Amino acid sequence: MDDQEWIDEDQECIPPHLRPPLHSDYLTIVDVTRVHFITVNYCHCPGSLLVHQQLLRGRLFPATLQRPSTAFTFHVLDDFIWDNLECGTSGSNYFSKLRRITSNVFPHLVPDRYRELLRKWRLLKLLKWNGFGHRSCTPQKGELALFCLACPQPGHVSASHNDIFRPKYSQTFIMDGNFKAEHMHEKCLDNQIWLMDGHGYMVTQSEYQAYLKGTHHAHERSTCNNHRAVNQANTSQGKLESTGISGTACAQHGCFIPHSVVDFQKGER
Ligand SMILES: [Zn+2]
Ligand SMILES: [Zn+2]
Repeated sequence: MDDQEWIDEDQECIPPHLRPPLHSDYLTIVDVTRVHFITVNYCHCPGSLLVHQQLLRGRLFPATLQRPSTAFTFHVLDDFIWDNLECGTSGSNYFSKLRRITSNVFPHLVPDRYRELLRKWRLLKLLKWNGFGHRSCTPQKGELALFCLACPQPGHVSASHNDIFRPKYSQTFIMDGNFKAEHMHEKCLDNQIWLMDGHGYMVTQSEYQAYLKGTHHAHERSTCNNHRAVNQANTSQGKLESTGISGTACAQHGCFIPHSVVDFQKGER
């Protein structure tokens, strides 16, 4: 039995409360309360807003702009970000929870809209929080991330630009890495779309790759029995896209510097 046979449920087999309305234009609306099917009538009066704008006015985020069939409430998208941040919940796990809330007995009969649970929401939030809501300019390197509020920086905390050269206002940075944060190669690399390449804490990919290609990396030998950084550098990378991650932070407060985090291909490289 192939996968298709499992997806196409016969309407008769679906309990009435989980059936989408027949013979009508309905929207699948995903909310924290459950997955709903709701019949919608858009306004088509002269001068009316576009369909996706009408949905956004109703605090519904459409999965696509052209003829949307699924929309998420702003509440569920915020809730997913909080769950992801505090509980480490993945998109697929979060959607499984919503299916379970919709039907505790038949969660598999609730339409799966996990793929539409957009990363785009997070980007829109970052743009808003960093003041790009009403500006047409695109963010520059690291502009969607915050640096330390307490550290002296020119024009901020210290009185003048010259102050940062005085010991009282000097900045101290630390660099450290994590050699366990491994990342596998993507299955379909062509499907990957970078939404905020270099706008946050990670460095810009193309510049970093160019730097790696143009830099000579000598093999190092460690006399230490288990020096992870050196041992990793001498092992094969295999299926891993990156073998660790490293960043620079202010020493006093531990805040990461925007556009300073890199991933390792081998050991500390
Ligand atoms: Zn109208
Ligand atoms: Zn600081």
